[in-house]
Amino acid sequence: MAGDRPGALVDSPAVSAVPVEPFDELQAYADEVAGCTRCRLAQGRTQVVFGAGNPHADLMFVGEAPGFHEDKQGLPFVGQAGKLLEKLLAGIGLQRGDVYIANVLKCRPPGNRDPQPDEIEACESHLFRQIELIEPTVVATLGNFATKLLSGRPLGITRVHGQEQETTIGSRSVLLYPLYHPAAALYTPAMLKVLEADFARLPQLLGRPAEPVAPPEPELTLVQTRPAEQLGLF
Ligand code: URA
Repeated sequence: MAGDRPGALVDSPAVSAVPVEPFDELQAYADEVAGCTRCRLAQGRTQVVFGAGNPHADLMFVGEAPGFHEDKQGLPFVGQAGKLLEKLLAGIGLQRGDVYIANVLKCRPPGNRDPQPDEIEACESHLFRQIELIEPTVVATLGNFATKLLSGRPLGITRVHGQEQETTIGSRSVLLYPLYHPAAALYTPAMLKVLEADFARLPQLLGRPAEPVAPPEPELTLVQTRPAEQLGLF
């Protein structure tokens, strides 16, 4: 009988010969979250913005919440802040497809207002599960909301940016690396230098040689509609 041999597959409909890949599990989880109604944001969204990128990434970024363009396209960081994120990635020799990008909230808050504590609480287990399935070694938090949630500490991003810390998320130990939110650098160009310097340490934190790539030239238009402080970005 097949089941008598060590390592042989048991001929049972309940046991699959094909191992369930974390990628399939991530996609299955995304499908499940697409119908989430855990908080009020479900009513105003176009769609859930689950996350995007390499499901096997060593490096994961966690932002705040989808904005207008993200809500429309169903992808994280596709607006101005996303363009800057891509430039910063290029500065260390990476592309979007090399990393995984998600947010604390999966649905757009109306008018891009700050996430509310009950919304974060309702949504946080989606992020924790994503991290468990992707198994990154480094999680870079972008701005205050992601940093406070994943560090479990109230310290703001201005205090802790660029300071990596070992932390446990779910069952996994990861290196948490707080960074300024790219949108803060859009509103405050001087902050771009700090963000670039913090980004430049990522290869080392990932255990890779530093990339001999020149930092990206900022050529983004200064968008000065609301001061970054008001947005709670730092
Ligand atoms: N800002 C975020 O925090 N997330 C996005 O997806 C876009 C902008």
